Amino acid sequence: MHALPALAAVPGARSLFRTVRRVDGPGRVGLTFDDGPEPEAVEGFLEALGSLGVRATFFLVGEQVARSPEAARRIVEAGHEIACHGYHHLNHLRLTPPATVRDLQAARDVISGETGADIHHFRPPYGVFNAASWVTAEKLGWQRVLWARWGRDWEPDATPQLICDRVLSGIRDGDVILLHDAEAYSSAGSWRRTLAAVEPLVSELRARRLEPGPVGLVAAPAEGIAGANGAGQASRPANGQRPAERGGGRSG
Ligand SMILES: [Zn+2]
Repeated sequence: MHALPALAAVPGARSLFRTVRRVDGPGRVGLTFDDGPEPEAVEGFLEALGSLGVRATFFLVGEQVARSPEAARRIVEAGHEIACHGYHHLNHLRLTPPATVRDLQAARDVISGETGADIHHFRPPYGVFNAASWVTAEKLGWQRVLWARWGRDWEPDATPQLICDRVLSGIRDGDVILLHDAEAYSSAGSWRRTLAAVEPLVSELRARRLEPGPVGLVAAPAEGIAGANGAGQASRPANGQRPAERGGGRSG
C-alpha cells in the first residue's frame, strides 16, 4: 500500500499518525501560506505582513521556486520561515513511491539551494500524504504540517470578508491557519483576495488576543492522543519539537 489518504479519512488511524495542526501558546496561532512564490504576489504579502509586524511560514512549491528564485529569496530576507510543499503540486495519491521520493528531494534541493535556508516543515499538496511522502518527510527531518483553520481562499467565490469569516469561525488558541499567496493552482486572481484579507484578519486575531506567527519557532508539544501507549513516538523530529494531531480537512 502506498496510499495513506488524508488522515481524517482513516477511521481509527489518527492515533497512529502525527501531524502539526497547532502551535504553542498561549495567545498564538500559526499563519501559513501555500503554493508560492509568485513574483506578482509576493511583494504585496511581504509589505502587508511587514507593516503589521507579522511573520509567517511560506510552504513553497519547488517548480515555483525554480521559476522565481528571487521571489523565494525575498521571503527569506523579510524574515519569514519557508517550508516545503513539494516540487510538483500533485496529489500524492497519483504518485508512485519512487516518484514521490524524487519529488520531495527535488523540492528540497531547489528550495534550500536557491534560498540557503534549511527546511523543517512539509505540507503535501491538498494535505494528502502517501506512505512514501509520510516516511520521506521524516527521513528528511521535516515535521508534517496540516492546518486547523482555512479560508478556502482558492475558491472562485471567496471574498476577503468570507476568507476572514471562515478562518475566524471557531478559531482556537494555537490553530494553524491555511491561506494561499499564489493562484497557480487555484482560481485566477485568488491571491489578491487573500492579500486583501490579511490586514483585517490580523486585526481581528489581535482583537481576540491571538498573535499570528510562523509554525516553526513555536511548534507545540504533541497532544497526547497516542502518547499514552507510546504509539507515534517515531514521528518526533530531529529538532526536538513534537508534532500534534488534531482536526481534519482538505486541500492546501
Ligand atoms: Zn497547495
